[in-house]
Amino acid sequence: MHLPLALLVALQTPAATPKSGRQPDSTLLRVIAIADLHGALAPRSWPWSNGRAVGGVAALKVWVDGLARECGCPSIRLDAGDEMQGTAISNFSYGRASIEALNAIGLDAAAIGNHEFDWSVDTLRARMKDAHYPFVSANITDSTGTARPEWAEPWTLVQRNGVKVAVIGLTTTSTPTTTAPRNVSGLAFGDGAIAIKRELRRARGAADFVVVLAHEGAICDSGACHGAILAVARGLDSASVDLIVAGHTHRVVSTAVNGIPVVEAGSSGGAVGVVDFVRAGSRGREVRVRIDTPYVDRVTPDPALTALVARFQRAVDSVTSRPVGVLRYALRREGGEYGLGRLLADAYRNIARADVGLVNNGGIRTELPAGVVTYGDLFAVTPFQNRLVRVAVPGQVLRDALEHALAGDRPDAHVSGLEVWYDPRRPAGRRVQKVKLQDGRDLDAGATYTLAVADFVADGGSGFAMLKPWPRTDTGLVDLDALIDYLHVLHQPVDAPAEPRLHAAGRAP
Ligand SMILES: [Zn+2]
Repeated sequence: MHLPLALLVALQTPAATPKSGRQPDSTLLRVIAIADLHGALAPRSWPWSNGRAVGGVAALKVWVDGLARECGCPSIRLDAGDEMQGTAISNFSYGRASIEALNAIGLDAAAIGNHEFDWSVDTLRARMKDAHYPFVSANITDSTGTARPEWAEPWTLVQRNGVKVAVIGLTTTSTPTTTAPRNVSGLAFGDGAIAIKRELRRARGAADFVVVLAHEGAICDSGACHGAILAVARGLDSASVDLIVAGHTHRVVSTAVNGIPVVEAGSSGGAVGVVDFVRAGSRGREVRVRIDTPYVDRVTPDPALTALVARFQRAVDSVTSRPVGVLRYALRREGGEYGLGRLLADAYRNIARADVGLVNNGGIRTELPAGVVTYGDLFAVTPFQNRLVRVAVPGQVLRDALEHALAGDRPDAHVSGLEVWYDPRRPAGRRVQKVKLQDGRDLDAGATYTLAVADFVADGGSGFAMLKPWPRTDTGLVDLDALIDYLHVLHQPVDAPAEPRLHAAGRAP
């Protein structure tokens, strides 16, 4: 991922030349946005940051405060959701550490993300009580699609220096397959545009600006953008919605649909979205969008937040600093298939003593450095504490699972114990051409195989619904412990398996 340093987009700008003696621009409102913090309370360096540390809540607070001050205008602070899940320091406190940090950063509102449900609705409600800001979502209802749970406020009104901003929340419709289903049983996550329109009249009537704060996002590649939030935006118009702050895809996005700017600020404190609504002299209103990279070396991190992170860090240190193994090379997540994914799939298969291992790519949350890796490093890769289960499935169901994993633009899972030859040019669902097991035999549609997966996947998560009906046994381990156990048995330093297992026809190996 590349972060544009200062991505400047002026929308609704007429081509007229400014008249002499025009009034100076004045910023009516600045919206400062983050997304998908995922418990990243400490700074981190990224493959794109050239070794420089980015984010961390102590730097983020100073960065955000600076943006508010620099503007000298009314400003609000929004977060597009998925705040808590993802690091030992946050997860060991069931998200409390993240909420305390975001309280200090001074959020005005947050969207409810899918991973906010990871520790049950009751835990989420406890964290909502800890938060000094409201969590909003307009599309959560009971499963009949009518009544709203009382904890899911659709929108909130933020008032700043006489400017009123209605912030309407949204939660990804994929939530039932992107958190464990038991966490959201009895809930439905309805169409975003319909849900927003339900609230628009009242929100618009109460406010000068309407911002949709969505835990639903987009992906832009070489100028072309796609993603669920753009479909939502197409159902809205710029007369009623001034801005969409997006999230969930962990991408940096700045685009516009139907005249509505759509901005997404990456993840894990790696980016900050800055949206200015400007009265530009005689030219009328402009919207100026920019995405900042909050480099730590550009600010003096906030001492109180540094202390807060250190306090929570100490509580987990004895566990997280424990060395688990040594990696010969850094393990990145690049391309459709990579060593880290194969290593995880091997760990599941070996530790569960199964025929086949499978790991959904959405479950591989970060990369690993070369050298000594600690429990904390590995925790960040698989933070969900899913149970590792063994599912007994017919060969045909295993094949269906592989078809599902290969249905998109790039593979969505890593496998162990088999190799797959497939043709990505064929229609989804009919791509798998050959499956060979490790003993050299072809997959037998009628035979029964044991498949090692996280219970999240066995429950139909990430779209693996075909696995749900089949009998399973619990290995007694969570996925992370399987990885740790497996690293312990490998020769050190560990080389992740290098040979591809998913062979695409018509593509260079
Ligand atoms: Zn999400």
